[in-house]
Amino acid sequence: MTADRPAASSSNAGRAENTGTVPARPGNSPARPAIEDEARSAETGSGAEPQFREGAGLGKPPAGPSFLQMWADLGPIGRNPETGGYRRYAWTGADADCRTWFQEQAESRGLAYETDRNGNQWAWLGDPSQGDAVVTGSHLDSVPDGGAFDGPLGVVSSFAALDELRARGARFTKPLAITNFGDEEGARFGLACVGSRLTAGKLTREAAYELRDADGVSLPQAMEAAGYDPSTIGADPERLARIGAFVELHVEQGRALALSGSGSAAGSGDAVGIASAIWPHGRWRFDFRGEANHAGTTRLVDRRDPMLSYAETVLAARREAELAGAVATFGKIAVEPNGVNAIPSLVRGWLDSRAADQATLDTVVTAIEKAAREYADRHGIDLDVVRESFTPVVEFEHALRDELGAVLRERTGREVPVLGTGAGHDAGILSGSIPTAMLFVRNPTGVSHSPAEHAAEDDCLAGVQALADVLEGLACR
Ligand SMILES: [Zn+2]
Repeated sequence: MTADRPAASSSNAGRAENTGTVPARPGNSPARPAIEDEARSAETGSGAEPQFREGAGLGKPPAGPSFLQMWADLGPIGRNPETGGYRRYAWTGADADCRTWFQEQAESRGLAYETDRNGNQWAWLGDPSQGDAVVTGSHLDSVPDGGAFDGPLGVVSSFAALDELRARGARFTKPLAITNFGDEEGARFGLACVGSRLTAGKLTREAAYELRDADGVSLPQAMEAAGYDPSTIGADPERLARIGAFVELHVEQGRALALSGSGSAAGSGDAVGIASAIWPHGRWRFDFRGEANHAGTTRLVDRRDPMLSYAETVLAARREAELAGAVATFGKIAVEPNGVNAIPSLVRGWLDSRAADQATLDTVVTAIEKAAREYADRHGIDLDVVRESFTPVVEFEHALRDELGAVLRERTGREVPVLGTGAGHDAGILSGSIPTAMLFVRNPTGVSHSPAEHAAEDDCLAGVQALADVLEGLACR
């Protein structure tokens, strides 16, 4: 299947046309499915906010309308009108608005709302002290110019799944909680999953206090400015001890489901899948130091230009990743003095690399570093490589994973695909402390961390149903 014609969109065409409730956007063919229109406008970074339209879906009340309304309410928060992307960074105004939205959702459903010592939000149904709680949720923050779905889909679906269970008349035998973990993307302080890492004791209070954003604002300063007390941050084993299972629903950040081909039509894929593992991944900082000099008067042979070594290293990263079947990305760079007419004195590039297993990842990063040192030597450049963060492979608990698979198989009459992912999640962090599992919702293009990130409305509603089924299986028995 080619990347530019996702099967999910074509399979929606009949549905969208038949509802007759979706006004065609001017300039588009009336026959074009509404959801695809939204994806297209998001790709160009223009057009309306990526909201679902009330009545555009199959309508599986009561989850549908509730999901749509929540999506519409959350949609404008932190959205940059020029790029169409989201800028919901930890402890900023947009983050505060997302948190207010979460609290309102909790309170409107009569859930007990609380913020934990690390600033993560919780909405409880039932008494947490009972223990063996079933928890679901995700995050509401974003990467720079991120998409609408990464994170919020899990939180919105959690509330919608609870509504669905209540509509089914489900009887909860265990406490249930919905969470919003703070600072999952690490966009502001450079470290992902700060909220869940602190809770799980994988980030010490001392190390968290050292985190600083690009303006030099420390994490505790940022928390305090947002009205939170940073003095109590740290491991929260008592809280984790009360949780029996954590399930995070997330938009898929690849095309495995779209390409899974086990759907009703060949190649149409599956709307929902279960996570098997999260690839090991890390971030490395490469500092190439040369000599600043005049771009006009310095002869080429006299230069010590770190940009050259950096550029060669970027190509090496691509080559080594391809060879190993891994991924490697230089997506962030800092240059000093950063003048258009100056040879740089420093080029600092950040490498993000991930692979299916530890040995492969080690091989790739070692090879990239070796190449970088050769290039640096050739140009008289000093090179320092620092590993800034690392997360080992996460295998989700097999028993819980199998349980999810069994519940969904029983409900749908089909085997649900089980897939690995190269993306990190709070569920991965927590998996070292409590049984965790993840559900993925199909992403027709696989694009994520971009305004073009998308999932079809029907798939999102299928995700809500799957999450409700799973939660019912875990919390109502
Ligand atoms: Zn996410």
